[in-house]
Amino acid sequence: MNQALKVRRRVRGLMRPALQLIVFGSLPLSFGCDIGQKTEPREQTTSSSGAGGTSAASGSSGAGGGGVSAVSNLPVPPGSGAEPQPSGAAQNLVVLPWAGFHSAVTYTFDDAQPSHIAHWPELKAEGIRGTFYLNTLSQASEAGFDATWQDALKDGWELGNHTVHHCYANGMCTNGATFTTIDAELDDVTTYIEGTAKQADVWTAAYPFGDTGYEPASMSRFFLARGVSPGTIAPGGATDPFNLPCIAAVAAGGEPASKFSGDIDAARAQGSWLIFLFHSIAPTSQAWYATTDITAITGSIDHAKSLADVWIDSVVNVGAYWVAQKLVAGAAPTTNGGATSWSWKLPAHFPPGKFLRVTVDGGKLSQGGHALAWDAHGYYEVALDAGTLSLSP
Ligand SMILES: [Zn+2]
Repeated sequence: MNQALKVRRRVRGLMRPALQLIVFGSLPLSFGCDIGQKTEPREQTTSSSGAGGTSAASGSSGAGGGGVSAVSNLPVPPGSGAEPQPSGAAQNLVVLPWAGFHSAVTYTFDDAQPSHIAHWPELKAEGIRGTFYLNTLSQASEAGFDATWQDALKDGWELGNHTVHHCYANGMCTNGATFTTIDAELDDVTTYIEGTAKQADVWTAAYPFGDTGYEPASMSRFFLARGVSPGTIAPGGATDPFNLPCIAAVAAGGEPASKFSGDIDAARAQGSWLIFLFHSIAPTSQAWYATTDITAITGSIDHAKSLADVWIDSVVNVGAYWVAQKLVAGAAPTTNGGATSWSWKLPAHFPPGKFLRVTVDGGKLSQGGHALAWDAHGYYEVALDAGTLSLSP
């Protein structure tokens, strides 16, 4: 019995008496969440949870030291920006964890909820990139559905797959919806994201209820998927890429910003990647599950920004780095004369145009016969699509 199942059963057990459907117009709005199924009477949920937060004013410019690399589009970590190019021996290739940041954090929001649409302006104003995991069954009934995801995409957010109807993989639906097939549940959302939201591809998924019954079908479609088991992700660690853990907002009444800021501090102390999972955002009249005040979310974002050495980005962006670091760091080098070379093959459905940041003691790094430029923030940027890297004196 894995942690995800334990959590799901516990939470569902607690919440079963509250099960009901919200009827919105003529369409029964399902909804679900990943960890359990809960809807609440509106009168209990229209006011703010009171989970205020210590919204630290942040003068930092988004993720880390400010700006993004023109080469890699990765955010620039803090530092002098005047690091000298290494001039020692051509040896000791090191892939920097988390693009040179100390840790990483991703904000994910599940179920394409009305409260996400309502609070998108506040999330957008943070200037970060995160991930929305979309169900599409309420596309026709939620005002601003298409426009919100299109706008998020323009700001660099990721749109991920959370199935059409939010049912279990065995076809059981707790929300009154009708399951189609596992393939159609996933592919119809991908069709929406590519066709209507206009994202070039769909790279990651989140399982409804954290149900890993979706894992086999996800492995043939995506390169990562998030579950709901609690935890964080270590660089180079053995975490299952098709059941990434998260820290979910679950407390009745909503946790304050200080709780989430504490989670960020703990992950930073470990040098790990923390994926937050949020459901409904207050204030809202559509509190479907685990409703959290917007100031608790934005307050924690502000805290992460104030640390400067925490990389805030989407699942696809941080996840691509995490996967590729293990791949390249684990590649067996070959030598030819004085040159050392590494080769790798990216996994299926890996996003194009991604990079790693590396250091060496010295020598010349090159890809495809072209020397890599030293970045004075303290690294070389390696193009993953090239599939090879060479180091020569
Ligand atoms: Zn969900």
